[in-house]
Amino acid sequence: MTERIALYPGSFDPLTNGHLDILSRARRLADRVVVAILENDAKTPLFTVSERIAMIHEIVGDDPATPVRSFSGLLVDFAKEVGATLIVRGLRAVSDYEYELQMALMNRRLTPSIETVFLMAKEEYSYVSSRLVKEVARLGGDVTGLVPEAIRLRLVERVGKELLVEKSKVKGRT
Ligand code: ADP
Repeated sequence: MTERIALYPGSFDPLTNGHLDILSRARRLADRVVVAILENDAKTPLFTVSERIAMIHEIVGDDPATPVRSFSGLLVDFAKEVGATLIVRGLRAVSDYEYELQMALMNRRLTPSIETVFLMAKEEYSYVSSRLVKEVARLGGDVTGLVPEAIRLRLVERVGKELLVEKSKVKGRT
């Protein structure tokens, strides 16, 4: 029997418990779920791609069923490269829907043999996004329970460093 491979693409900057929830659901649909980090120069990430890969590895382990890769270019091309027939995306609120629908239809037009499937995380993660988690951490809020503990520690350390750089810039100006 051929192995069913799914691709779970995103920024994962950083990985949240919402992402992990979607990943574990995706594993019920496929033999292998490739976590694919988009290399996007347009966005200014908090963590580099290699840091994000290392952080995800730290949490999910070196499991051959959940390899972690980065990619640039067309998602469907990368899906074909890894042999994926499914693209997994998570849906939180209605606000995610419009963009996701556009992407799914465009990807289908580009490669009709690849199916996009949408999964819903647990309700308690329905408001969790990497963007919001970073924003809260930058303002000194507690994100315990929204991201794995090892990620929370890295996040606190990184936003702390950002703050120091900002302060030294202000100091340099005065
Ligand atoms: P972000 O978490 O900042 O929205 P990503 O690009 O890393 O961004 O998300 C990758 C995928 O995971 C997207 O399909 C996104 O909708 C989904 N996702 C992220 N967080 C959640 C969540 N809390 N519940 C459901 N899906 C999620």
